[in-house]
Amino acid sequence: MTASDRTLKLPAGPPPRSAYLHIPFCHRRCFYCDFAVVPLGDRADGQAGPGSASIAAYLLQLHREIAQAPPGPPLSTVYLGGGTPSMLTAGQVGELLAALRRRFGLAPGAEITLEMDPASFDRLRLEATLAAGVNRVSLGGQSFDDHVLASLGRRHRRSDLLEAAGWLDRARRCGDLDSWSLDLIQGVPQEGSGAAMRERWDGELDQAIALGPPHLSIYDLIVEPGTVFERLRQRGSLPLPDDDTGADLMEITQGRLAAAGYGHYEVSNYALPGHASRHNRVYWSGAGWWGFGLGATAAPWGRRQARPRTREAYGAWLEAQPAAPEPAAGGGEGEGMPFDELMLVGLRRREGVPMDQLARAHGLSVQALGSLRRHLAPFEESGLLRVEGPRWRLTDPAGLALSNAVLRELLVWWESPGR
Ligand code: SF4
Repeated sequence: MTASDRTLKLPAGPPPRSAYLHIPFCHRRCFYCDFAVVPLGDRADGQAGPGSASIAAYLLQLHREIAQAPPGPPLSTVYLGGGTPSMLTAGQVGELLAALRRRFGLAPGAEITLEMDPASFDRLRLEATLAAGVNRVSLGGQSFDDHVLASLGRRHRRSDLLEAAGWLDRARRCGDLDSWSLDLIQGVPQEGSGAAMRERWDGELDQAIALGPPHLSIYDLIVEPGTVFERLRQRGSLPLPDDDTGADLMEITQGRLAAAGYGHYEVSNYALPGHASRHNRVYWSGAGWWGFGLGATAAPWGRRQARPRTREAYGAWLEAQPAAPEPAAGGGEGEGMPFDELMLVGLRRREGVPMDQLARAHGLSVQALGSLRRHLAPFEESGLLRVEGPRWRLTDPAGLALSNAVLRELLVWWESPGR
């Protein structure tokens, strides 16, 4: 047993009740974007046109990853981000939600957000997407100025943004949509004095407030490595606001939005009362979340796990995930894996864990395994834990529902000096 094995920590708090799904497809890459994105071209769509086969193949992978996840309690928040998730058809969105429902269940009143880009959907698609179960939309508006939108490399224009916002507003007033959010980017490159930049930004906020989104996300432009903007900056052709002007823009934002009734509940997020994003809060509260898809970050029990960012690497990673692995000669499941990770991931899977491999990987003797089994005997007797040959597993649904109690006892035993 190693020193690190001795420093095992119990899972902090309850299992995740939130999930993030990454939909990496975009029509093209914006000039400032370094997200995990697969550009498909301007005519791409979920079910027709170039790119549809690529989307369909990726969705199969995503469904597989969801199906392989350890079971957990019903989800209270789901967030489909990207990329441009509004490139998916309503049917594809509905199938993903059905997969989550099968794996975890969706809690009554769950907040289900989908990111939508203007010009990537129309009113009918919006209605169908809401009918599929989405009840919150995050609209990637970014700016009301066509010159700014063009300079950011965005595909949509002001008229697209106004039209999309109008549909969302009507859907909310009709009760078909619980809430929606508008994204804007602050500190975009533009010519002119600091005073001119402040005036333009004030105008952007005017237009945003006039649309009445219940939630606003205001992001500072950051020049990321590897982007078109980084190359422009290196050439000296990216006129960004200086630090003083940037601070002024932030102050203007806070003042204007506070006056309009928006509470500033997180660094980039503002909401009218009752419209703070429950999913956003999960990221910052320390509660864990599931993450699925290329480039997604998961953090069940606060342990961050980033998925690979390319299609090929994600496919290979997914292939390497154990479905119901059998012991392999010379190594296998559990070997080289920290004990607590093995327990958390393995014992929460319906197929359980192969305890013979666990014993081998962590230097447990036959006597120690017997001691552990005696320690967990009350769970076995009450039907929560089943030992089937070398495989130990929690029963479904009783054992999985009370998995935290079993895991805690198991780790208590592991850390006990006299075991
Ligand atoms: S639409 Fe969003 S995710 Fe796609 S390239 Fe532009 S900024 Fe990146």
